Amino acid sequence: MAQVSTGAGEVLLEARGLGRRFGDFVALDGVSAQFRAGRITAVIGPNGAGKSTFFNLLSGALRPTSGTLLFGGRPIAGLPQHRFAHLGIARSYQITSLFPRLTAHENLRTAMQAFAARYDLWTRRDALRDLAERADALLEAIGLAARRDRPAASLSHGEQRALEIGVALAAAPKLLLLDEPTAGMGPEETKAMVALLRRLSEERTILLVEHKMKMILGLSERILVLHHGRLIADGTPAEIQADAEVRRVYLGQSGGYGHA
Ligand code: ADP
Ligand code: MG
Repeated sequence: MAQVSTGAGEVLLEARGLGRRFGDFVALDGVSAQFRAGRITAVIGPNGAGKSTFFNLLSGALRPTSGTLLFGGRPIAGLPQHRFAHLGIARSYQITSLFPRLTAHENLRTAMQAFAARYDLWTRRDALRDLAERADALLEAIGLAARRDRPAASLSHGEQRALEIGVALAAAPKLLLLDEPTAGMGPEETKAMVALLRRLSEERTILLVEHKMKMILGLSERILVLHHGRLIADGTPAEIQADAEVRRVYLGQSGGYGHA
């Protein structure tokens, strides 16, 4: 099997003419884009633009009906989803993936253990202690060290979302895919999540799907804009803000650029 290189700046994931139909309806129409290591990229667009469809194609939850998907230069479209995880593509789930009665620490430890067991990693006897330490480091990274021994169910909505990101990170992915991580959050929780994503993006490659334009302008280095399943813009936040078509699409919406 070819080694997947993950040096900063290298193309990690590439979509070539990626498309998806549902019957006669074209939800995603021939999108081509490259995603490089060590960056935070956002895919935005109004509701119904095809963002979740794109996200599901990139994370292996859906198969494309046209085009190809390359990871480290290798075609991966059509592989079963667990192969995506094994290759290093992790996704968060909008439907909660937490065990409500387990503590924050136990949730992370369980996720790490499940991933390790599946791929025969850490077979040594001291692996359990190692796992506990790694779970602590991960708790710290997602800002939940103070909630270590609290059951997941007792955490606030924002903290649960952060823990879900921790669960996705438990597999030490090369690429983290997030679909609307601030969905259902108030301004304070949104701010905390944006700060978390900014911290995480220093060491990880993140691809974020979001409909709130304002939220991602200060966070992403690069923004892709989908509208009616088509990629209508791809550039820096400054380029996106100045783009006439993007302005038209967003200003046509109630709330303009959306609530941050
Ligand atoms: P977004 O995430 O940008 O709001 P989606 O990717 O969820 O958009 O949906 C894009 C379009 O594709 C919508 O019109 C939606 O109704 C349609 N769609 C999404 N999933 C399905 C499906 N499984 N079957 C039929 N239509 C779908
Ligand atoms: Mg969506």
